[in-house]
Amino acid sequence: LSDRLTSALQTLSRKGRLSDADIDATAREIRIALLEADVALQVVKDFIARIKDRAKGAEVHGALNPAQQVIKIVNEELVTILGGETRRLSFAKNPPTVIMLAGLQGAGKTTLAGKLALWLKKQGHAPLLVACDLQRPNAVTQLQVVGERAGVTTFAPEPGNGVGDPVDVARRAIDEAKRAQHDIVLVDTAGRLGVDEELMKQAADIRDAVSPDETLFVVDAMIGQDAVTTAEAFRDGVGFSGVVLTKLDGDARGGAALSVRQVTGQPILFASNGEKLEDFDLFHPDRMASRILGMGDVLSLIEQAEEHFDQEKAEQTAAKLGSGQLTLEDFLEQMLAVRKMGPIGNLLGMLPGAGQMKDQLAQVDDKHLDKLQAIIRGMTPAERDDPKMINASRRLRIAKGSGVAVRDVNELVNRFFEARKMMAQMAGRFGFGGGGGSKN
Ligand code: GDP
Ligand code: MG
Repeated sequence: LSDRLTSALQTLSRKGRLSDADIDATAREIRIALLEADVALQVVKDFIARIKDRAKGAEVHGALNPAQQVIKIVNEELVTILGGETRRLSFAKNPPTVIMLAGLQGAGKTTLAGKLALWLKKQGHAPLLVACDLQRPNAVTQLQVVGERAGVTTFAPEPGNGVGDPVDVARRAIDEAKRAQHDIVLVDTAGRLGVDEELMKQAADIRDAVSPDETLFVVDAMIGQDAVTTAEAFRDGVGFSGVVLTKLDGDARGGAALSVRQVTGQPILFASNGEKLEDFDLFHPDRMASRILGMGDVLSLIEQAEEHFDQEKAEQTAAKLGSGQLTLEDFLEQMLAVRKMGPIGNLLGMLPGAGQMKDQLAQVDDKHLDKLQAIIRGMTPAERDDPKMINASRRLRIAKGSGVAVRDVNELVNRFFEARKMMAQMAGRFGFGGGGGSKN
């Protein structure tokens, strides 16, 4: 996405206001990007329609250029669809809380059982793992190994009795949990490589036997477009109250998250991102949105720009800039405002296309800015307001007061005059500011 969108947005940012044509052009790019992230086509269509609506009615926010404004809207919509605030697990009023895991074979259910058990244990719970996948020869052992690593008990059918009945195991597990005072029961179930009726029936039978407080649909983020059909099949066959996305450590852009969420309406609760038990976290809609968009850096830049923006001051400065009336006081204020956002090199590095200007960025030095700040602070208000009055003896005084060489003061003052002239010229060319007489 980044390259394509960056070029589309650069076109936008050269214009002052968003036209319908601009929005349409950007929408086309976003559409392609979402499809590239493996979001299902119908979901993409709905999403784009919402974006167009909002972008056309949006008020212009002073801190953002039109391009940034579109990204902001896209990002907000994504976060909204992905679930806004993270939903927590719901626990039963009368323990044990029963959590059942469902999903295709290989989705990561057994691994997740261990992760969730460890996570819950760290929060003071006493989970019991239950092996209801009696389909694959090694499934029970796999769960036992995972349980040992998490340091929790695993309930499994006694070996040597042939293939057990998963429904019976699930029922007995609940009794065992009550007896041994486990407050949470985590039921691992069998999966198939594809959706099939027998699998659904078994899962539904287990569900009926244990009436879970949560049924989590576990889905591999790498399955892309198939996520929709699989999710629909599990919704209709078993039903679920939440979703867990796994294998987010892979290179999938996460389109499955948007599709599953949009199509089933169920929230995504957790994200699994590795084979180790610790590779697991609550699902964060904002992080997923930026992953799907592929523009995390730009998004954080927008956030910072909004946070530190002072509309009125910016307008005043722009007007002064255009008329060549900028003072050193304004200059200092601008510098402080920008620096509030963090190290200047980082800030510039977040801009789209900044990759090509690495060399220049390397020269932007915070120490140098510290020095400039010290020099301006060493000036009297009158001097800041009208830098032309800063003669040789004043320069000497300022240098001594701010602990720098006279040459540094000279350089700052000269640079300031140059910059002011250049900005007034640029302002004239781009048609903002007063464009009137310069103080020079
Ligand atoms: P199940 O069939 O649904 O129980 O899936 P498993 O838990 O057995 O996982 C299938 C494979 O995926 C195993 O090799 C796991 O180690 C691996 N796996 C599970 N979750 C993740 C994950 O989040 N990231 C990665 N990289 N691998 C995972
Ligand atoms: Mg399994």
